[in-house]
Amino acid sequence: MDPRHAVLFEPIQIGPKTLPNRFYQVPHASGFGVEKPHTQAAFRAIKAEGGWGGVCVDYTSISLECEEAPAVSALFWDDADAQALGITAEAVHAHGGLAGIELFHGGAHSENGQSRAIRVAPTQYRSHPIWGGLAKEMDADDISRIQREWVEAAVRARDVGFDIIYVYGAHGYLLSQFFSTYLNQRTDTYGGSLENRGRFWIETLEAVRAAVGADCAIATRIPVNGRDGLPGIETDDMLQLISIASPLVDLFDVNVGVWPEDSGTSRYYPEGHERPWTDRVREATDKPVVGVGRYTSADLMAEIVSTRALDIIGAARPAIADPFLPTKIREGRLDEIRECTGSNVCIAREETYNHVACIQNATAGEEYRRGWHPELFTKAANADRAVLVVGAGPAGLECAVILGKRGFDAVHLVDAAPEIGGRLRWVRTLPTLGDWGRVTDYRAIQLDKLDNVEFIPGRRFTAADVLDYGAQIVIVATGSSWRGDGVQPEHDDIEGASLAHVMTPEQVVLEGKRPAPGSVVVYDADGYYVGPGIAELLAGEGYDAHLVTPFGVVSPQSDASLEGDFLRQHLHNRGVTAHRGVTLTRVAESGVTGFDEFGEAWSLPCTGVVLVTQQQSEDTLYRELLADPLALEAAGVEAVYAIGDAVAPRPISEAVFDGHRLAREIDSEDPMRPTPYQRERISL
Ligand code: ADP
Repeated sequence: MDPRHAVLFEPIQIGPKTLPNRFYQVPHASGFGVEKPHTQAAFRAIKAEGGWGGVCVDYTSISLECEEAPAVSALFWDDADAQALGITAEAVHAHGGLAGIELFHGGAHSENGQSRAIRVAPTQYRSHPIWGGLAKEMDADDISRIQREWVEAAVRARDVGFDIIYVYGAHGYLLSQFFSTYLNQRTDTYGGSLENRGRFWIETLEAVRAAVGADCAIATRIPVNGRDGLPGIETDDMLQLISIASPLVDLFDVNVGVWPEDSGTSRYYPEGHERPWTDRVREATDKPVVGVGRYTSADLMAEIVSTRALDIIGAARPAIADPFLPTKIREGRLDEIRECTGSNVCIAREETYNHVACIQNATAGEEYRRGWHPELFTKAANADRAVLVVGAGPAGLECAVILGKRGFDAVHLVDAAPEIGGRLRWVRTLPTLGDWGRVTDYRAIQLDKLDNVEFIPGRRFTAADVLDYGAQIVIVATGSSWRGDGVQPEHDDIEGASLAHVMTPEQVVLEGKRPAPGSVVVYDADGYYVGPGIAELLAGEGYDAHLVTPFGVVSPQSDASLEGDFLRQHLHNRGVTAHRGVTLTRVAESGVTGFDEFGEAWSLPCTGVVLVTQQQSEDTLYRELLADPLALEAAGVEAVYAIGDAVAPRPISEAVFDGHRLAREIDSEDPMRPTPYQRERISL
């Protein structure tokens, strides 16, 4: 270990508990809740095994009037819930970690679609506008009942082994609703002055502390500003409240603003972007403080802890991307850290009601159901076979690396391009997308370390080349490309797509093709990052860039990753003009025509058009190989598989997963079919 990083491995006392080091996986949703208790436990325990001294479970509801369906939070309504999460506490302890539980009440932000319980809020008329109507203004009975429920949940948590018990009030949930001068318009002792707005929180802390404070560390998670999303939460006010609450709290877990800013993506926020606010918490308390910042740099973490800007480095996303980040720092293996890309794929999955997944770490969430460990690999039964992987994009790269780790004698990874990366070669050069390149960079280092995996650049393989090569197993990972033929989702083809001033994203970025100076239309029927990236690139070069999209908002997919609002503002600031609800039907020399959301004719003059409509698999090689089984046999090829976009174009995270899965199951009966995974169901 670099001695400068030793400070990160010093234990620290938090109330009655000792945190073994300064690495702390803050609470975050997983999609496992209490319904998949073993999946939850394995997902958290791997972090304790990887060296995170504190590991928390999901946000955990204390009351049936706070229910998040169809999203999944953990529930802690009765002893059965407590037992389900107790498995996680035990699993974290087995690796020497402390287990934390983030008890919360959503107030007006509770969905309650399944429970049909009435929402409660400090004030009725500014409650969160979601289907099912407004919230009830809390009366004195509601206040004391919720505080009692918090205590009951805390006692249950202690009894099943949790070490750190939260009174969670960040991210716009009930406690924040009380803090906010905008949402809390009460005229009783719980509204008005700062002291009054903090009263519900302070009383809850007192009650929870009185019940379990001798046995457990009491943590609280609060915002240190509200920024734009939650008006009426000012930093100076929050610091004052923190100093009032300080004697009641063993660990302050502090963050900034509402969730999209707190979990800011790398496209718009650098590592440690919260520091101007979170560093100030030290002014208000001497108690241990944990904060997040998408930290993956050991030097920066050590600097933060040495200066006591924070006492403990919190992480959700970097811990998902690399559960063994602390161990790798301790062992001086910094180059092996699988750095979080800040793409928020983990959050996009959760926002679309799927369980957690990661663009960097294919094993995230698969620890229990598929038995995958991020760092350990079994030797493949067919490791003596020579393997050829064609295509070094995310799928081929991941597959080759994992085959290498599974002990294959010889894995050859080839690509027509002069370097690895596949689509990321150009995606990472688009404005704001540089950190996504970490997917390639991590694997480049792995390739260097694996003597049994060789990368051969600059060779485009035909079927004949593959047959000549001498491999017994062939894996086709030839990816996909953007269609330039005018095919688009949900509507007839765009006429005129073959005109010379119409181009694809790859032609723009990889081949440097450009329209004549003037106005350029980027037609984005995909709705994620490529269209905005190309539009910003061209705007930056002096084009009058117009992003035309059939969707009602620009880049709707970026809303799931919490970056939609920032993306739209950013494009606007960069001079990109947006046209929403427009479907293109025709491109001519002088411009484009189509129709708008009302079915009215729409047109725009331009000098060039970039079509971001839809991708298509580059599967010719795969089809040709499969079409001639006799030739395969004669060449000694025993098996041909396909992975990634070559099978079906999907997000990068799914290509990585696909490559990983095939490598993990390369010695199964039929590697193209996923092996059934372990499920958790109630036994009848
Ligand atoms: P994925 O995300 O599925 O890995 P990508 O499109 O990112 O797919 O990468 C596919 C890679 O395959 C590209 O780098 C491309 O150059 C390479 N490739 C495609 N066809 C061939 C071929 N016939 N021979 C060698 N490399 C190929």
